[in-house]
Amino acid sequence: MKTAVFPGSFDPFTNGHVDIISRALPLFDRIIVGIGNNTSKQYLFPVEERERWISGIFENEKKVLVKRYNSLTVDFCRQEGAGYILRGLRSSIDFEYERPIAHTNSRMAPGVETVFLIASEKFSSVSSTILREIIRHGGDVSEFIPKGIILPGRK
Ligand code: ADP
Repeated sequence: MKTAVFPGSFDPFTNGHVDIISRALPLFDRIIVGIGNNTSKQYLFPVEERERWISGIFENEKKVLVKRYNSLTVDFCRQEGAGYILRGLRSSIDFEYERPIAHTNSRMAPGVETVFLIASEKFSSVSSTILREIIRHGGDVSEFIPKGIILPGRK
């Protein structure tokens, strides 16, 4: 069984994340959305809420599972029997950020391959970081996030 882990913070989950998962579905038998806990990050939304959103969005898609993890991504992959790490690339900045992580992960776990999908043109400027700023200032991010996500003040 071809299993991929799609690791991230998903703070919040966006249409860009949905797009990567949807496009990766034909490539894998199972995609585990892994909500990581990066000790150096302060999250805007509690992990329970992020998990609930993503599970709700994919409740009818049997190939998608949502799990939280606190370990290294490669250890989570081994634990789940996943041979692939799925990531999205929006820009050369993403690429330069991802490259050393992918190299280091492949040193640590040679059997786990990182697979990148180029962000769709339509979503390539959607970023959780920007959405968090808008949300913090009371702005409306509805057009950038899936319909199932309830945010304070959402129309
Ligand atoms: P992290 O904190 O690990 O960067 P994110 O939740 O920001 O987690 O992103 C998870 C993954 O989704 C990353 O591979 C990121 O590049 C990708 N991603 C984020 N936004 C988009 C988007 N708009 N289009 C495609 N990929 C995206």
